[in-house]
Amino acid sequence: MNIGFIGLGHMGNPMARNLLKHRHTLKVFDVMPDLMKALTDLGASHTTSASKCAEDVDVVITMLPSSPHVRSVYLRDGVLSGAAAGTLLIDCSTIDPHTARDVAFEALAKKFNMVDAPVSGGTGGAEAGTLTFMVGGDMADFEKAKPILECMGKNIVHCGGAGNGQVAKICNNMMLAIEMIATAEGMALAAKLGMDPKVFAGIANTSSGRCWSSDTYNPFPGVIDSAPASRGYSGGFGSDLMLKDLTLVTEAAKSAKQPVMLGAAAQQLYQLHSSNGHGGLDFSSIIKLYKKD
Ligand code: NAD
Repeated sequence: MNIGFIGLGHMGNPMARNLLKHRHTLKVFDVMPDLMKALTDLGASHTTSASKCAEDVDVVITMLPSSPHVRSVYLRDGVLSGAAAGTLLIDCSTIDPHTARDVAFEALAKKFNMVDAPVSGGTGGAEAGTLTFMVGGDMADFEKAKPILECMGKNIVHCGGAGNGQVAKICNNMMLAIEMIATAEGMALAAKLGMDPKVFAGIANTSSGRCWSSDTYNPFPGVIDSAPASRGYSGGFGSDLMLKDLTLVTEAAKSAKQPVMLGAAAQQLYQLHSSNGHGGLDFSSIIKLYKKD
């Protein structure tokens, strides 16, 4: 297929490379020229604007930082003015569900097919082509997007209508943040009260305190060798990215008049953690709020 790919950052670059590996023809655009060169060296062609990147392709994929970037790239003299009607549009950025629905509505009005398809799996999943895609949009558009997304991911899940991919993404990450904070709090307290953290984690993980943050990604250093906690919280999923998702989810809850008491507390705790200078560390480093070293 002829694919236009816009946004070649930490996630977009390896995703675009996987499309090239599957022998798709790629045209790329990013506001940072060096990021385009990394892809043109591998056989992609480059363009000078989002609207040009969307011309004469079957599919446009975007992987952008946040909602204002998505609005601007699609609506302001961008993808919707460059692409031919009928082009399939796939936005993989994590943004708020309202923006996703607004952009999809405008796209539909101009006879485009559009899905929102945010991902989980991080840069490791993007490199390995094992991302999970949470897809919102018509079933027929989902079916068209699926074979392309399968070049970059392993689990491709239809979540319902436009914006529902974003709903799944931000609600899952809210649960993850709350669970991580609970694990950090319990682990730090058990250690302070004199327990060996590894022994305590073993008990929690065979008892009712068990969760993904305790048995797979434990925030206490030395408990799980492969976890970011055991390598100074490097790599993994950055605290600032978690803060971004928590901010999206609390704003969405506000507009839906739906209480998210623990989600709001989690957003504030990650905000504090970020303002303490730890935004670049993996999100399990939130345990630094509870223990000094
Ligand atoms: P990034 O900042 O590394 O990449 C975004 C790219 O978009 C940059 O290269 C930037 O130059 C480009 N860009 C910005 N405005 C543009 C414009 N107007 N036109 C063209 N290009 C433009 O971000 P990332 O880490 O690749 O994340 C992308 C999205 O994926 C975000 O929404 C993020 O929340 C989400 N996400 C990231 C991860 C992760 O681990 N990094 C995991 C899951 C989801």
